[in-house]
Amino acid sequence: MNLLNSITQLSHEFGTADYVQGGGGNASAKDAQTLWIKPSGTTLADLTPDRFVPMDRRLLEALYTARVPPDPAQREALVKNMLAAAVFRGATGRPSVETPLHDSFQTAFVVHTHPARVNGMTCARDGAAVCGKLFPDALWIPYTDPGYTLCVRVRAEIRAWRGRTGTDPALVFLQNHGVFAAAATAREMRRLYKSTMATLDRAYAEAGVPDALSISPAPRPERMAQVLHTLREVVGVDQPIHLVGAGFFSVPTGPFTPDHIVYMKSLPLLGEATPAALRAFIERHGYWPRVIAAPDAVFAAGTTPRNAALALEMAKDGARIAQFTEAFGGAVYLSEPARDFIDHWEVEQYRRGVI
Ligand SMILES: [Zn+2]
Repeated sequence: MNLLNSITQLSHEFGTADYVQGGGGNASAKDAQTLWIKPSGTTLADLTPDRFVPMDRRLLEALYTARVPPDPAQREALVKNMLAAAVFRGATGRPSVETPLHDSFQTAFVVHTHPARVNGMTCARDGAAVCGKLFPDALWIPYTDPGYTLCVRVRAEIRAWRGRTGTDPALVFLQNHGVFAAAATAREMRRLYKSTMATLDRAYAEAGVPDALSISPAPRPERMAQVLHTLREVVGVDQPIHLVGAGFFSVPTGPFTPDHIVYMKSLPLLGEATPAALRAFIERHGYWPRVIAAPDAVFAAGTTPRNAALALEMAKDGARIAQFTEAFGGAVYLSEPARDFIDHWEVEQYRRGVI
């Protein structure tokens, strides 16, 4: 089927490190009855046409008129069940919580990504104003907790936009998150992304902000072994810990987007990873640091080699975002309540997953 081949091709093109990190981002295609979406826990780069989850658009519509409980955990659980019920019989794969959001666009294709260059604007102090200037035809959504709340808000804003202009916005920028691009054809999607990136690149070049990170030489094996040893000693031996390292770069001091919290927790440990510093960090924050910004190198830890590598990738992504925000008034991190929501949301998801 043509639609699925096209969205698979787009997923591969926009599933590269320039646009997403880890399992981030999402892509969908639709006709009048069916929405096909990337399943949770997959990456854009690895998708094949048969992996997309087919969903009944009439049942997705019902999500918006459902009476949802005010408690966030109960609400997200209900929405998860309603989403599962909207999957066509016989199909496998769990649809993402952002599925209803994709359905709010009328176009055949939606590609959602988290490019550092885009987030240099969405995570900047002057982000909204800059967006209005650089992208006058785009919709800007102030930060909203992810999941159902975000879907409802974006849908309402798109409808209001449609009411005012008679058309849908092709670009929706989400503060401290990323961008949604909507297009009727694959060719139009490519054009849209190309012009968006070119506009941002021009703005960064004008501001004299570099595109690449400056990173010092990587730490030596003995140094890696020393940090890993200290970490294992403090966190405990029953916890498997893997460590990766990179040369020094300027690690951001807070989380920029929900995905940064998911992959590297809200805060890094700034300074040398001494037993005392690690204990004080755990005492204060309730978790052990996934990213350690030492004076000579940056270390990232995880319970699997992949988690450790992802934490480092997100730390570098955050550093690039921070660098880009300098063009637009400086960095804005996620607020305390926004962090809290993600932390609890993750816990709830995990808990439900285990049960
Ligand atoms: Zn996203």
